Amino acid sequence: MSEDFYDVLGVSRDASEEEIQKAYRKQAAKHHPDVSDDENAEERFKKIQKAKEVLTDEQKRQQYDQMGHDRFTEADKRGATGGGGGPGGPGGPGGPFGGAGGAGGAGGFEDIFNQFFGGGGGRGRGGGGGGNRPRQGRDLKTGLTIDLEAAFEGATKEVTLTRPTTCATCDGAGHPPDADVETCPQCNGRGQVQQVQQTPLGRVQQTSTCPRCEGEGELYSEDCADCGGDGVVREEATLSVEIPAGIRSGQSLRMEREGAPGENGGPKGDLLIEVDVDTGDRFERDGDDLRVNEAVSFPQAVFGDTVEVETVDGSVEMDVPAGTQSGETFRLQGKGMPRLRRRGRGDLYVQVGVVVPESLNEEQREALEAFAEAGGEDIDVGGGFFEKLKSSF
Ligand code: ZN
Repeated sequence: MSEDFYDVLGVSRDASEEEIQKAYRKQAAKHHPDVSDDENAEERFKKIQKAKEVLTDEQKRQQYDQMGHDRFTEADKRGATGGGGGPGGPGGPGGPFGGAGGAGGAGGFEDIFNQFFGGGGGRGRGGGGGGNRPRQGRDLKTGLTIDLEAAFEGATKEVTLTRPTTCATCDGAGHPPDADVETCPQCNGRGQVQQVQQTPLGRVQQTSTCPRCEGEGELYSEDCADCGGDGVVREEATLSVEIPAGIRSGQSLRMEREGAPGENGGPKGDLLIEVDVDTGDRFERDGDDLRVNEAVSFPQAVFGDTVEVETVDGSVEMDVPAGTQSGETFRLQGKGMPRLRRRGRGDLYVQVGVVVPESLNEEQREALEAFAEAGGEDIDVGGGFFEKLKSSF
């Protein structure tokens, strides 16, 4: 019974906050336990409240969109959602096949993406050694670098990685179909052995996977020639990944069932693709906002002018008011990056720098000297240092 919060409120995934508030009021009025005859009204009402709480909190909504309903709800129960600092940020490098660490429940908000997009925690895999229980395969990790344009537009990219794959020759069995089989004599087919160890704390009985048959309980006369009995080979795979517009560096995309093969008929793990956005030289990114430097001349800053600013999607005109100081910043609303899986865009902050000319022609020099003189400035023009040097002899 996990119903998507958007469905609970009956709004689309890109609904504005206003639309969500409106839908909430409507739904809440309809399902309030005091007015509704439905015996599940209270539960329903709570759900509506929760949906509104999450979807009207920008940060929580972003997490919710990223994680999906089930993962978010699970994290929320543990109090791991919300709180300071948006997701994204540079994030850990997480090289190829970082492996699924047992991320577990610890860690603050910063870890949330690692836990859910890189950890493989909380999914009931791993677990006690041995046995023939179906087990889901490991999550695999890889990285992908895209440029700012791809992050802006959204894109379909290919990733190539070498990953463990079920051996096609033996179909994962690890032995040829006609190999002779016998029950493992060491564990009598149980797949597990018990060892008693003498420790300073006394005798400890330990159960571990049978080393002889590796938990299979059976021994085969022959191993598969291609996988050497593992049932798994490493293979190169090229996958097509949908990059949503607005993605930030450090965020990961989950491709379900593209990870390592499961054991004993269990499903495959997932593949986590950590995205790195190369913003290039022109822009600096700050969440959904972009920053850029724009040069203006001294007369432009003094008199004011309209300048062309190159944004991430074409150029726009910007008014530089008269008397603009070097270093002043102007905001171009809605000219930043799109918000991930949401409507709207961040802003573009344009920092204006007044350029001081490195050389002047004669006319410019005279005009500027006249300018200084008119302002009552007494400037030692033209290499005063050498003048002083001469006069000191
Ligand atoms: Zn094989």
